Amino acid sequence: MIKKIPKLQIIRHITQIIFLIFIPELFTLVFSQLKEIYSMIVKGNFNIGEAWPHLIGAIIIMTLTIILGRFFCGWFCTFGAVNDFIYLVSHKLFKIKFRVNEEIDSKLKYIKYVVLLFIAAVIWTSGSSYFDSYSPWNAFAGMDNISGAVVQYTAGFIILAFIAIGAIFIERFFCRYLCPLGAVFSVLSKLRIFKISKPTDECGNCRLCTNNCSMGIGLYKMEKVSSGECINCFKCIEVCHRKNPQASILNERVNPLFPSAVAIAAFTGLNSLGSVMSKNNSAAHVGSTNNISADNNSSKEDKYKDGTYTGIGHGKNPDLKVSVTIKDGKIASVEIVSANEPKGKEAFSVVPKEIIGSQSTSVDAVTGATLTSKGIMEAVNDALKQAKISNVSTDSSSKENKYKDGTYTGIGHGKNPDLKVSVTVKDSKIASVEIVSANEPKGKEPINVIPKEIIAAQTTSVDAVTGATLTSKGIMMAVNDALSKAQK
Ligand code: SF4
Ligand code: SF4
Repeated sequence: MIKKIPKLQIIRHITQIIFLIFIPELFTLVFSQLKEIYSMIVKGNFNIGEAWPHLIGAIIIMTLTIILGRFFCGWFCTFGAVNDFIYLVSHKLFKIKFRVNEEIDSKLKYIKYVVLLFIAAVIWTSGSSYFDSYSPWNAFAGMDNISGAVVQYTAGFIILAFIAIGAIFIERFFCRYLCPLGAVFSVLSKLRIFKISKPTDECGNCRLCTNNCSMGIGLYKMEKVSSGECINCFKCIEVCHRKNPQASILNERVNPLFPSAVAIAAFTGLNSLGSVMSKNNSAAHVGSTNNISADNNSSKEDKYKDGTYTGIGHGKNPDLKVSVTIKDGKIASVEIVSANEPKGKEAFSVVPKEIIGSQSTSVDAVTGATLTSKGIMEAVNDALKQAKISNVSTDSSSKENKYKDGTYTGIGHGKNPDLKVSVTVKDSKIASVEIVSANEPKGKEPINVIPKEIIAAQTTSVDAVTGATLTSKGIMMAVNDALSKAQK
């Protein structure tokens, strides 16, 4: 008998490949937007009207998940697709077969909620960047510069390797047990109107649907799949010879291609609309700042009070402490007071000299010691904040009337040097932040998000975008530099 080609799986895998090629950062993008929504809610300043244009990805995906279920997971997500393809190769090519006991599987699925709770309660709430190097998403996102990324995210790569090995043996290993985003979607999708129905009285004893379910759901004992674990992959529908499992919306049978097409159209259509809205916002801002002067060199002019200041940064480990001396308004010396940096020796001697030589903290990181180099720059920046007459602050009482109106240019150092911004101050407030030039391969998301956050909070102390920490920090550094020229 000729085996029927699973049409839906071919369409699904083609969709996954398209998303993988064109929006490889989709997982990190949605996850970082979720973090922003969480932060806004925790801080009590969530405003859907303001948040909509730059949080559109997460908002669309969450709405879609509530109505139609986890199409994001089954069809769009980069991480999910990679899990699928690893398993497909191991299963079809190397015939690796491994089944997790149903009871153990259902218990292991709770781990992802613990991961989510830990990330939200410990990492997001504290705003700590300590765990950045442990992030498998940062490691995954840094694959375009693998040698640098391996050094910077060693722990993240180890976790990534563990996930890849897991995916060889267990289909959707990461999605089933570890994914914090999957945990959110699992809860949200409980409310969906689109479900798989599977009348048990029409079933045989084959359990083909259960044995082929990507997420290990025990379909054999259900009339309808209400589980939040279902990712709408439709393997159960295609594998059944009796055509027993069927897609249904509000109990009415539908062709599964219909909700799939709706999900793809809704996501791509609304996402494009969001991009246009963001671009229009940016264009409006550019128009408002073009005719105002810019100043590139004054960051090297005298702008600090003489004295010695201590600053703290985070290199490979926290609490990297420096002492910065200002003489005649210039950075005269940078001393490393204490640091727990195993590979820091070269960075300790090179980076302070570069900072003094260029009178800027936007210097090149030492190869092989990127985190330590950045930690030193961060600590020196921290010290210099105190040396400035005043700086951007989270204290609302000091947000008023401290900048001269005008447009100022600032330089920062993200993943690469020379990240240039133009900041417009109006009525003593940060009115716009434009990225003038940046050589940041994965900078799209922070370039959209960070300027808006800075304007909304009137401070450069905002949360970095997950998976693009360096670019986010570079933008904040550049805005700080520009604002130092706007001081009254
Ligand atoms: S569970 Fe997580 S990794 Fe898996 S597809 Fe969903 S969002 Fe992506
Ligand atoms: S129940 Fe069906 S559609 Fe849902 S995950 Fe399992 S195989 Fe895929």
